[in-house]
Amino acid sequence: MALLRSRPLAQRAFRCSLALKSWLSTHTSTAGYLKGKNILIMGAPGAGKTTVGRIVAHKLGLPAVDVDDDVLETTWKMPVAAKLAAVGGERFLQEEGQVLCNFSASGCVVSLTGSNPLHPEAMRHVKQSGTVVYLDVDGGDILQRLHRMKVDRIVGQEAGQSFSDILKYRKQFYEQWLDIRVLCGRGDTPEEMAEKVLQAVERFYNLTAETFVSTRADGEERKTYFSDVVVEGLAPDGGLYVPKNGFSKIAPREWLRLVDMSYPERALVLLEKCIHPLEVSAVDLREMVSKAYGSSFSNEDVVPVKRLMDDMYIQELFHGPTASFKDLALQLMPQLFAYCLPPMCNYLILVATSGDTGSAVLSGFGRLRDEDRRKTAVLVFFPEDGVSRIQKLQMTSLSRSHAKAVSVRSDFDFCQRSIKRMFGEAGLTGHLAVEFGTVLSTANSINWARLLPQVVYHSATYLNLCRSGAIQFGDPVDLCIPTGNFGNAMSAVYAKQMGVPIRKVICASNCNRAVSDFINTGEYDLRERRLMPSCSPAIDILKSSNLERFVHHVSGGDGALVKDMFSSLDARRRFTLPDSLLGRMRRDVRAGWCSEQDCLAAIYHVHARSGYILDTHAAVAKVVADRQRDRTCPVVISATAHYGKFAPAVFEALRVENIPDNPLEQLKRLDFAASKPEKHQKLMECLKNRNGREHAVCEADYSVLVEHVEAMIEESFLKVMET
Ligand SMILES: *Cc1c(COP(=O)(O)O)cnc(C)c1O
Repeated sequence: MALLRSRPLAQRAFRCSLALKSWLSTHTSTAGYLKGKNILIMGAPGAGKTTVGRIVAHKLGLPAVDVDDDVLETTWKMPVAAKLAAVGGERFLQEEGQVLCNFSASGCVVSLTGSNPLHPEAMRHVKQSGTVVYLDVDGGDILQRLHRMKVDRIVGQEAGQSFSDILKYRKQFYEQWLDIRVLCGRGDTPEEMAEKVLQAVERFYNLTAETFVSTRADGEERKTYFSDVVVEGLAPDGGLYVPKNGFSKIAPREWLRLVDMSYPERALVLLEKCIHPLEVSAVDLREMVSKAYGSSFSNEDVVPVKRLMDDMYIQELFHGPTASFKDLALQLMPQLFAYCLPPMCNYLILVATSGDTGSAVLSGFGRLRDEDRRKTAVLVFFPEDGVSRIQKLQMTSLSRSHAKAVSVRSDFDFCQRSIKRMFGEAGLTGHLAVEFGTVLSTANSINWARLLPQVVYHSATYLNLCRSGAIQFGDPVDLCIPTGNFGNAMSAVYAKQMGVPIRKVICASNCNRAVSDFINTGEYDLRERRLMPSCSPAIDILKSSNLERFVHHVSGGDGALVKDMFSSLDARRRFTLPDSLLGRMRRDVRAGWCSEQDCLAAIYHVHARSGYILDTHAAVAKVVADRQRDRTCPVVISATAHYGKFAPAVFEALRVENIPDNPLEQLKRLDFAASKPEKHQKLMECLKNRNGREHAVCEADYSVLVEHVEAMIEESFLKVMET
């Protein structure tokens, strides 16, 4: 797929065209890949730019240029410090920028000054000549080095401003210009930093090393990149996409840097490691991350981690706009999706939901900026009588012109089947493409862009435990997750692969226990199973889609084997995992299940003991964690929803009588009973404002659903094109 996208020119400087991609695939190895481009080393004063630049230049056999010594001083014919003293900070920046604007070099390693990035014109100029590498060095290390260098003042530093203030201020400029971040561990030597620079630059110029494969791929395939994977969702052979070379491991010293960072900062650093900068530039990624996690979560930590009792902790994944953990992925995913779309097409995302996905999708896509909305719309189908009242109110109140929910007088299965049928009908998809320039797509939990953001919150959970002093980095922790489609669990396995010291991921099922039986026996057998409705409906799932990624992982990437097994699951409703692979699987995961009674009892007892109200899904995890843990390390419960979302079951668990009928009153009543966690403001607002709001209801008739799809496309795209 060609990736020429409609972005402002400046941002597009390094976006990758198809031509560049194929050029890159034939020009890898050696520094020849630089093709005369410079490596521009950027960073704070005292970060080590000059020293690191020299080592890098030496290793690549390229000339080193230090802007301070080789450019400014030779131009001004005086030391930089003297110039600064003579003209003052403001004027210094201007003159420094002017010099850089006239600077030209190629095939060099250029160490910029710490203040160059404050001059936009100069930066635009040098950025054209090469790749900007940001040495992201620990603040403590920098202060030490400045002290050793006897630096007592930095350009632009006002009286009374500390070094750390100014370093913080400067950071935003560095983040604005970087192509690549080199995250330096605390105490990294210049040699180690230089090695990281070399690796990062090589990665930058070697996009073709970061492709994705289908879990069912058997042999050579076409090269598939991040943007392809995000837009396609499912691989053409029916498999799921995984990174061909797995996840890169992050060293403990780098993890330690993340301990003191905010959630958006951590997200940015981690996602940069997993998304090639030529697919999504670091600068654009930063904008998306800040929009997703900057202010739409009601807790400053985004995912706060609290102690529940003893050494049992709880990761609260429900502080997003729709009160379930799906917000963590779906506040970011729509932005990635819109960014990766090929030009000239409109996309209509079709979603069938039986609960939490619908509102999270509507919220996430609803927040897209105008230019993206012109190309992307969402239509959610939900069963009129198959979701809770609260979920229905959430969806209808989040409906907008380009992101709408419609209910169907049928069950979830009908909604899902109808959508699948639309995708498969060439007559329909062809008609939509020709008449409206519109392609149908999905946003379900197998999409890589939904899984990837979840790696961040598992990492953040561990880091928060380190920050609070509950553990030290390196200590093992178990993580217990209420598991449906295995997305949450799979991202915990990925976090472990990146080096987060998670010992076991414990999968918790309710009475629909196909997954936990599989993890315990190696038999995935759906023949005798019927889906049983439970009070934890988000994990009422028998065919757990992301499990395929895990099987692929433990098989060492054996696509033929995965294909065999999952074809067998479709044809014969069962497969068996060989013992050797089961053993490997159990290195990372454990599993158990919890009855309805035990789930409700857990809510009751936890509340009685601590005042904390668990939602039904977290309660399932609590029960299973108690049974599976060996008490040699802390365990974290994954709280995937706020209790308010499942209020009726929580009332039953707490043995409350005379439950109010009105959902808002129900939440108020529970808030009164709970000392923890805090009430969910957005959830309440949504019930308050739109109580009883109308929504379109359609008959259980495929052609009626198709009419809705066509009407939605006309409304969303044609109208905009006319204006
Ligand atoms: C979706 C959901 C789950 C299941 O997560 P998977 O990633 O599908 O395993 C669990 N709990 C809640 C509240 C959910 O909304």
